[in-house]
Amino acid sequence: MAPWVTEHHPTTEELNACVQCGLCLPVCPTFRLTGRETASPRGRLHAMSAVHSGVIEVDESFAAIIDFCLGCRACEPVCPGLVPYGRALEGTRAEIDAQIPRRDRRNRWILGTALGSRPLMRLAGVGLSLVQSLGLTRLAPKRYRRITGGMRSLRGRPPSSIGHAGGPGDAGTVGLLAGCIQDEWFRPVNDAAIVLLEMAGYTVAAPERQTCCGALAAHDGKAGAASRYMTRNVDAFGGFDFVVATSAGCSAHLADYRWPGHEPVTLDVTVAVARAIDAGLLPKVDADRGDMAIQDPCHLRHAQRVIAEPRTILAAAGYQVVETDEVGLCCGAAGMYTVLEPEASTRLGSQKADQVRATGVRKVASANPGCEMQLRSHLEDDYQIRHPIEWYLESLRAEELG
Ligand code: SF4
Ligand code: SF4
Repeated sequence: MAPWVTEHHPTTEELNACVQCGLCLPVCPTFRLTGRETASPRGRLHAMSAVHSGVIEVDESFAAIIDFCLGCRACEPVCPGLVPYGRALEGTRAEIDAQIPRRDRRNRWILGTALGSRPLMRLAGVGLSLVQSLGLTRLAPKRYRRITGGMRSLRGRPPSSIGHAGGPGDAGTVGLLAGCIQDEWFRPVNDAAIVLLEMAGYTVAAPERQTCCGALAAHDGKAGAASRYMTRNVDAFGGFDFVVATSAGCSAHLADYRWPGHEPVTLDVTVAVARAIDAGLLPKVDADRGDMAIQDPCHLRHAQRVIAEPRTILAAAGYQVVETDEVGLCCGAAGMYTVLEPEASTRLGSQKADQVRATGVRKVASANPGCEMQLRSHLEDDYQIRHPIEWYLESLRAEELG
């Protein structure tokens, strides 16, 4: 039997790029938790190479090694071989999905169908809002309690931004990827993006035809679903100058899209807003608004190397930024990781919460919905956690600048 059966598998070039130096081991959260070589980037690449050369098969033991990886990509920036680890991981997960397809039907439906269906997402949003109103979130199945416990209150949430179009357009046109979970559970972040980008001079539109970006499906090996979502979004966003996402996981995935013909610039909203501040298109607040603890989502810091921009935004909002973690270790949210690897996820979430507590600051900025929920589920109720652009817009309004 051929070791790989899909076109997505890790290539010889990708695998041979690893020179086995081990520089990635100290930054890998799962290696730090366990000390096991098979829980390190080098060990996982070694296992992929063993499949590639036909020494081992894609079986449950191999899948367990790959499943335990967070996909945080902290191993990429430190790698002298420039191993495209995230790409190799997604390809390997697609292989596991193809070769052991019966192992996770529920995930397949959630990632491949539900996230791409606006009616199903709306129904889930209404249902969860009702569950929150009745105080029943603690009755959720145990493995989902970190998610339900970390959600924002959905009561009184604003309408979806999908269908919105407005703004002057002097600076260019922005297509807003509203997202699947972001559009249902984090609407104030999308609203803040629209207000700020229109203030900066852009026309902002959130086209009806868009769908989930496909990041969660791709990270879980559902390559067919991810490709379907990409095709639909490429059609929806093809005419814009910029496509902006307000979730770090989505913006990282947009960067991997293949656009036939006109290729818009894809940006995380923190980059778009920080650039507008630096260009003088958005104002800076003079008032001192105190301290703000910051958490860097892996898909911003490691996958996109975006570090300065959220700090630029918070400084323009009048905050003194307080660092929580100089190396940016993963908080353990990582897509479905809280559900699939609850023990490791909880240990990483507790560590991250301790780092925030150690700052003594109760206001926290995080630019990714999964990280925000993980932090909230591990921190006490008096911590306020929001996206950097929400903190910025709040400051502008308090100073009557926005
Ligand atoms: S840092 Fe890169 S080259 Fe070195 S062991 Fe890790 S993956 Fe391989
Ligand atoms: S993606 Fe994260 S958890 Fe996975 S090997 Fe790299 S550093 Fe470790």
